[in-house]
Amino acid sequence: MRPATTTMRNGQLGFWMADTIGIQRSYPRFEGDETVDLAIIGGGYSGLWAAYFAKTMEPSMSVAVFEAERLGYGASGRNGGWVSALVPGNRMKFAKASATGKAASVALQREFITSVDTLLEILATEGIEADQYKGGTLSAAHTEAGLNRLIAKRASDLSYGMAEDEVQLLGREEFQTRIKIEDVHGGLFYKDVARMNPAKLLMGLADTVSRMGVKIYEDSRVLAASEGTLKLDAGRANSKRTFICTEGYSGPPTRQTPAHPD
Ligand SMILES: Cc1cc2nc3c(=O)[nH]c(=O)nc-3n(C[C@H](O)[C@H](O)[C@H](O)COP(=O)(O)OP(=O)(O)OC[C@H]3O[C@@H](n4cnc5c(N)ncnc54)[C@H](O)[C@@H]3O)c2cc1C
Repeated sequence: MRPATTTMRNGQLGFWMADTIGIQRSYPRFEGDETVDLAIIGGGYSGLWAAYFAKTMEPSMSVAVFEAERLGYGASGRNGGWVSALVPGNRMKFAKASATGKAASVALQREFITSVDTLLEILATEGIEADQYKGGTLSAAHTEAGLNRLIAKRASDLSYGMAEDEVQLLGREEFQTRIKIEDVHGGLFYKDVARMNPAKLLMGLADTVSRMGVKIYEDSRVLAASEGTLKLDAGRANSKRTFICTEGYSGPPTRQTPAHPD
């Protein structure tokens, strides 16, 4: 455990990674020339989950993950640890941006809900211990007006694909059986929210895909990728397919290529 007085500085590992450093495995630097069916650039959740599903669907596929720094150096090792079915952003705007309108937002919500249990089932199947716990989440109303807003929020949740038992309206007493907030007027309980240790999830996932035969390289920045060839400092990799999983490191967002609709 780090001493409480340690100051975190930009560019260092985040809290979760720093806290689990003693139990982390390291992976070799890529050197030489290698040919794989699938090359994945970036060793965060996107890269490792892509490797996991590729190997699950096609076990004979050769897969390599190239990480510039170390696994979890990006947001995957620095996030809040919530595995949540609550769709971030404005569902109405997502619906407007889709050709299928509101049906797309409803489908997205259903995917969010099923993905929470899917994730927990995979961790159980693969024996990944990441302090996972599904306890749901509460929204509390401290005023009558606040409660009315939560009632309206629930109606909207139901219209965007949540089922009655997935967003439960709690009265004051029922709410207080879960958490004793004196001035609470009631609230909402969303059951499909879990929490876990993000670094342990990442490490467990890396161990799992390694066991499945995926090659993982750290300290292996891809300098250029084109037409099935990846150039790295100390070598070159050839691949039939390449997945770029570098999220926030992919370049500055521009007005022409929004990450999601404004
Ligand atoms: C503060 C914060 C809190 C969050 N909280 C939550 C939460 O509670 N719940 C939740 O679900 N989501 C949360 N998120 C979002 C979530 O963490 C990210 O969406 C997710 O981790 C993105 O994973 P990724 O693999 O796409 O990207 P990253 O984890 O950023 O991985 C990209 C990797 O690519 C590597 N890379 C970059 N360039 C190259 C290159 N040229 N060659 C090789 N490798 C390269 C980077 O070093 C990095 O490791 C949070 C995000 C932040 C920032």
